[in-house]
Amino acid sequence: MTATETAPLGQADTLTSVNPATGETLATYQIDDETAVRVAVAKARAAAATWGALTYAERKKHLLRWGSKLVAKSDELSELIHAENGKPLDDAFLELMLALEHIKWAAANAEKVLKPKKVAPGAFMANFAAHLEYRPVGVVGVIGPWNYPIYTPNGSIAYALAAGNTVVFKPSEFSTGIGNFFAAAFAEANPELPDGVFVTINGFGATGAALVQAGVDKIAFTGSTATGKKIMAAAAERLTPVLLECGGKDAVIVAADADIKAAADAVAWGATSNSGQTCAGVERVYVDKSIADQFVTEVKRILTDIKPGSGAKASYGPMTMPSQIDIVRRHIDDALKNGGTAVLGGPESVKGPFIEPVVIVDADESSDAVAEETFGPTVTIRTVNGVDEAVELANKSKYGLGSAVYSKKQGMEIARRLHVGCTSVNSVLSYAAISGLPFGGVGDSGIGRIHGAPGLLEFSRPHSIAVQRFTIPGMALLSYSRTDRTMGLLRKLVPLIHGRAK
Ligand code: NAD
Repeated sequence: MTATETAPLGQADTLTSVNPATGETLATYQIDDETAVRVAVAKARAAAATWGALTYAERKKHLLRWGSKLVAKSDELSELIHAENGKPLDDAFLELMLALEHIKWAAANAEKVLKPKKVAPGAFMANFAAHLEYRPVGVVGVIGPWNYPIYTPNGSIAYALAAGNTVVFKPSEFSTGIGNFFAAAFAEANPELPDGVFVTINGFGATGAALVQAGVDKIAFTGSTATGKKIMAAAAERLTPVLLECGGKDAVIVAADADIKAAADAVAWGATSNSGQTCAGVERVYVDKSIADQFVTEVKRILTDIKPGSGAKASYGPMTMPSQIDIVRRHIDDALKNGGTAVLGGPESVKGPFIEPVVIVDADESSDAVAEETFGPTVTIRTVNGVDEAVELANKSKYGLGSAVYSKKQGMEIARRLHVGCTSVNSVLSYAAISGLPFGGVGDSGIGRIHGAPGLLEFSRPHSIAVQRFTIPGMALLSYSRTDRTMGLLRKLVPLIHGRAK
């Protein structure tokens, strides 16, 4: 079967990876069935004892060696990403660079974030020492998408490994070769480690579903909201915790005082780069009426010269997943039927796996192109009467992943009003490149955070330990030996400590 077909577990043995631009077969992989998935999880469970017992400094050394190995193989990896995913070579290299930044940050900061901490015990427990320690959760199952085939799952993989967990990774069926290359580089860089610290399993959705049922300690999923909901329901059976990084419908607000050229440049790139197949890509723009004409003209001017292609140096590549082409076409048609005007391109821009940029103005807010994730090189632009209307419309979405604000004076103020996980001010997508900033969304965009300190805490189990250092005579609170005298004292102390606020 090719990655464009789907098969329930057990009905196909192999998965064939193809170049989305040319249809050329790249490689064929054995599909891992339920038994194979359980074997992989058992291997990771065995390796967890060794990996989890290492010091933070030792894990850091192994993670940084992995980074160096990826750098040494960066040409080969970039070529593979270009071939299997379709994105241009430079974009493939940039994706690797961002992943390397996160590997380094997670490795360098795990100890600081997760080392044991002492906590104040409070007045009534003053005879205790309170310790907060973090342990790895154990084996983390990572299920990834294809659009940023290493950067995105790496947000879970690198942080889970740095926190002392082992990882079983199921790459998307559209990026199987890339996922296996990524994990093989870890093993090659660290031959002395047991097999199983970071392993891959291959297959379609059914292999991912088997991973959810295989007794892992956490599932970290990145992909569509529909699949995220299925995974959360399946994981509920065992109360397996889930991290869900799902879809988005990100808005950009362009205020009256924005730098129009800079905003247009960012919107043009943010909407169409990676063929628009970016979870936090620009999908909707709300621009102040005083600058709307100038802004639309500038976006159109920039995108007129931007063309997709299969070459290594194209502006962006083909649609990676063929079924997405129909969704993009449907959204364009729907927008045009619902009040929208195409100021650049239109239905004719969909040319096989390549879709040229499409800019639609003033489509109805309820049309699919404005309400649903399009995941293509298209953007809708709506003229608004000021910031309040822009914020209201931006926040109306069921999604809430990223967002951006262009304003010279009120950027932070507007950003704080957005109901989302991340916002860039006077840029787009920049939060995703700053390793210390957590990434994730609200609503249909998911649950939990990758990256930054919260990204390490996601893959850790807090362990609270209260140690009684000495007993206070007559103050045995947690005992049947508690006396009336103790209770009398407490009745005097409680109002003094908690009852004096006016
Ligand atoms: P998808 O949901 O189709 O597939 C994602 C992964 O889930 C694949 O590996 C797939 O094989 C697996 N899968 C499918 N059904 C499954 C099941 N029932 N149980 C377990 N696993 C299953 O998504 P996709 O098309 O690969 O990726 C595109 C989507 O990902 C877009 O919606 C995009 O917005 C989202 N995305 C989100 C982020 C983020 O960080 N929030 C990042 C990248 C992509």
